[in-house]
Amino acid sequence: MAEHPTTLEECIALPLKEPELLEVTEKAKDWAIMHGAAMRSKTNFSPDSLNFAPFLLTPSSFPRKEFEKAVALQTIINRLMHNVAHDEEFLTTTLAETIKVDEFTANLFNVYKKVLASGFGQRISLGILRSDLMLESSCKENGSNKEENEKPCAYCCWKQVEINTIASGFGHLGPASKAIQSFVLTELDQPEKLKNMPDNQALAGICGGMIRAWEIYNNPKAVIMFIVEDVTYNICDQRFHEFYIREKYPHIKVIRRTLTEVHDTGKLGLAKELLIGDLEVAVIYFRAGYEPGHYHSHNEWDARYLMESSTAIKCPSIHYHLAGTKKVQQALAQPEMLERFISDPEEIKAIGKIFTGLYSLDDNDVGNKTFEMALKEPERFVLKPQREGGGNNVYGLDIPDALRKMSRVERSAWILMDLIKPPISKGYMVRPGGTMPPPLVEVVSELGIFGVVIGDVDNIICNYQAGHMLRTKVATANEGGVAAGLGALDSPYLV
Ligand code: ADP
Ligand code: MG
Ligand code: MG
Repeated sequence: MAEHPTTLEECIALPLKEPELLEVTEKAKDWAIMHGAAMRSKTNFSPDSLNFAPFLLTPSSFPRKEFEKAVALQTIINRLMHNVAHDEEFLTTTLAETIKVDEFTANLFNVYKKVLASGFGQRISLGILRSDLMLESSCKENGSNKEENEKPCAYCCWKQVEINTIASGFGHLGPASKAIQSFVLTELDQPEKLKNMPDNQALAGICGGMIRAWEIYNNPKAVIMFIVEDVTYNICDQRFHEFYIREKYPHIKVIRRTLTEVHDTGKLGLAKELLIGDLEVAVIYFRAGYEPGHYHSHNEWDARYLMESSTAIKCPSIHYHLAGTKKVQQALAQPEMLERFISDPEEIKAIGKIFTGLYSLDDNDVGNKTFEMALKEPERFVLKPQREGGGNNVYGLDIPDALRKMSRVERSAWILMDLIKPPISKGYMVRPGGTMPPPLVEVVSELGIFGVVIGDVDNIICNYQAGHMLRTKVATANEGGVAAGLGALDSPYLV
């Protein structure tokens, strides 16, 4: 069995000669800015300017078979999450301990309980999901095939990192990353490599979901509303969605509002339609609202409830949001749990394989087994709270101290997960303000597969896989958020 670290072959022979590297990097930076592979600067913010988003100069290798498997599974994952979101009993029991100690999840759950009591204004939900995964470099199940063992990363198989049901970003930056790297490979006179970079229609697929929901709502005058943060750094990834919709469907208006603005200007009409000023809202697409900092006061929670109780189709509706919590992911990975949501045994088997070890720290941690295990071998794990957006987890040797500081009840807000050890490859990481030429560094990648699902408790109206995104970080970093400044845009080169 291969020991970690496993390495992946590069798409082209690296390093490049310095003059060539400098020239192509300068061009690629301009190409990125001019094609909207960009963000607003956090350190030097201005609403009037953009920096290119950090990117890998050339694509990172990814085993073709695992990529195809991930794509093929997405519609099953979509259906699974749709069923989970509509299982009131499951959500209630799974989150029961967590909401006793985690105020944010409790607030979300309160909104859910209030709509359960007063009746859903809209039964149809729009799910725009992103299933995030990493290759595990030493998978037992891939260790036996002789022919396969000749290939790079022969023992790799992918494992789910998490599933996002709110603000699943990079629908634009995913395809844009492929475009930058295709430009670079062409500049390097290696256009034949492009055929190994899979097609990526994430933007069209995600916007297609919003448009379909808008059609279902069936009022030609109603608008699509994006819920946004007070300040948006990842602006291109939102605006390109808006511009795509407007370009393809000029009659559909898109507006952007913060939760505070919805509170100040929103109300329900006679038929529970959501009115923002004079505008009726058909579809609400949340790009904010997933972390406590987005709710400055009760007003923002009131706004969330107002939207939930309206007839607008939400992406996500509150139950979809709850279905995306880490606690639910941990519960789903327990033996026999999938049978509650999926009937086909082959599908259950296939989904079961993508989970890595996930462990409860609540009352189900009988005899403190998880707790003791984490203290004994902390380097095997990552400890996760019920949060989104990166930067919240505790890793390896930091886990014992973190756990010891918590009371037994407080631990219920967290889950423990096996650390995935992805194969390492090399790449040039290009950053705004970074050194030139860019450094050649050891990196690891995380692939996100998008899925779109629309339906209500009885029916799924539409369910498809919708492109992908790849984020790559230096191999030594725990996390690799691009907006957070640790990761970089990338795209898969299938080997
Ligand atoms: P968030 O919802 O905040 O994005 P994640 O579960 O995706 O939370 O964790 C953030 C990052 O931490 C991931 O993008 C990945 O880089 C790293 N990470 C999370 N879980 C694991 C794991 N089991 N093994 C290795 N790295 C992980
Ligand atoms: Mg997440
Ligand atoms: Mg994540």
